[in-house]
Amino acid sequence: MSFDEEYDRPPVVFVPAGEDDEQREENLEMVKPSPGYFTSSVLIADAIIKRSEVTVLDYTANQVTVRYQIDGIWHSGNPMDRETGDYMLATLKQLAGMDYRERRQRQTGNFGTEFQKAKQKARVVSQGVATGERVVIYLTWKKDVIDKVEDLGMRESMQEQLKQLLRFDEKGMMLVAGMSKEGYTSAWRGVLNACDRLTRDFYVIEEESLVEEEVINFGSVTFDSGKGETAMSPIPALMLREPNVLAFNDLPDGKSVDEICDLSNKYNMPVYVRAQGRNCIEAIRRVAKLKPDLGKFAKLLKFVVCMRTLRRLCPKCRIEYPPHPKLLQKLGLPVGRVASLYQPFIYRQGMLDEDEEEIQPCEHCSGIGYKGLTGIFELLTVTDELKKAIAQKADTKSLTKIAAANRHVSMRQEGAILVAKGETSVEELQRVLTAKPKSKAK
Ligand SMILES: [Zn+2]
Repeated sequence: MSFDEEYDRPPVVFVPAGEDDEQREENLEMVKPSPGYFTSSVLIADAIIKRSEVTVLDYTANQVTVRYQIDGIWHSGNPMDRETGDYMLATLKQLAGMDYRERRQRQTGNFGTEFQKAKQKARVVSQGVATGERVVIYLTWKKDVIDKVEDLGMRESMQEQLKQLLRFDEKGMMLVAGMSKEGYTSAWRGVLNACDRLTRDFYVIEEESLVEEEVINFGSVTFDSGKGETAMSPIPALMLREPNVLAFNDLPDGKSVDEICDLSNKYNMPVYVRAQGRNCIEAIRRVAKLKPDLGKFAKLLKFVVCMRTLRRLCPKCRIEYPPHPKLLQKLGLPVGRVASLYQPFIYRQGMLDEDEEEIQPCEHCSGIGYKGLTGIFELLTVTDELKKAIAQKADTKSLTKIAAANRHVSMRQEGAILVAKGETSVEELQRVLTAKPKSKAK
C-alpha cells in the first residue's frame, strides 16, 4: 500500500477521543474533510494489516520516516514528504484529543479504530526532538493468553520429560529462564501450568511492582519492597496454608537466593524460581554472579527450563533451497537427511518477476516473510557432575562442556530442529542466539 490518493480510502472506522458520543461525532465530522484524513486512514490500515505493535513517525526538516515494529523487529515503511506528514499528524492528534498546534511539548492521547473486523485502541505519544518531532502510535492487540507449553512450541517428548521432572515433591529448585520482552512471562506461566495444579497447592510470591497478569489458578502473594518487605515477608503467614510449591518470580540478589534455598530445605518443599538467561547455562551463571552460597544452590538445583522466541517463516511464501552440507554440519543436522531448508521471501517495492511483471507482496505476511512467533525450549537436568562444577564456580564454557558430555540438547540444537522443520530460517535462529542480553525484566 502506498500513500497515493488514486486509491480509495481504506475503510478504517475511527472512534475519536471525546467525553460523549455527541462530542466524538463532532470531532470526527471536523477531521473528515481535512487532507490528513486520507493519509491517517492509510497509515492506520497499513499498521493493522502488518500487525504492527508500535508505529514510529520521525519528522525532520524535509520528510517523515515511518517505522513499524512487527513481532519485535523494526521494519521501514514508505517515507512521506513533510507537508503530507504534517496534515496527517494534525488529524491523528485531533482524533486523539490532542492539541495539533503543539509540536514541542510531550502530549498523549487515544482513539479507537475498527478495521478488518478487529477493534483496536491506538495510543498516540508526540514529543518535540532536536531534529523535529517524534510520534509513536501503540496499537493494542488482543492477544490470546497462551499458557500451555505445547501451544508455545515445546516438542512432545520434552513435554513428557518436563511433566516427569515436575512431579518432585520434596526439596529442590527449578529455574525457569528466558529473556525479558521475549516470552519471559509466557514461559513462566506455561511451566507453572504444566504442573499438576489440581492436586497441588501453589503460591506465586511476587514483588508488587512486578505483578503481571494473573497466572490462572495460582494464588498470588505480593510484597512491597518500597516498604522494606522482601520475598520472605509473606512466608510465615503463607506457611499456615500448607502450600505444596512456592514460586518466586524475581531473584534480586544473592541473599534472596540463599533465603529461598533455606526455605526449600526447611520445609522439604519444591521451589520454582524465574531467572534471566539466553540459555540454561547462562541462567545458572547469572544466579551464580549474584554471589549466593553456591554449594547450597548447586545442591538444590534440579533442572532448568529456558524459553526463547523466534519468528515463524510465512508458510505461504517461504522459499525452499537445498542446504550446503557445510551449513547442515554447522547446525548439527544430519547431512543427507535434510533435503531442504527454507528462507523468507522479503518483499521490496518494485520487485519484478522473470516476465518483468511487478511482484505483489504476499497477502498472508504483508511481504515481511515471517508471521507470528514460536518458542524454542531447552531443558537441562542438573547432574551430580554439573552440581559439583556449579559449586566450584565453573565458567560458562566448562559447564557447557559437561552438559554436552551428558548428552544435553542445547538451545542451538533445539533451534536447529525448528530450522530443519522449516518453521524458521537459519538467519532468524542466528539473530536470536546472538542477541545481546537486554536489561532486567520489568
Ligand atoms: Zn508470506
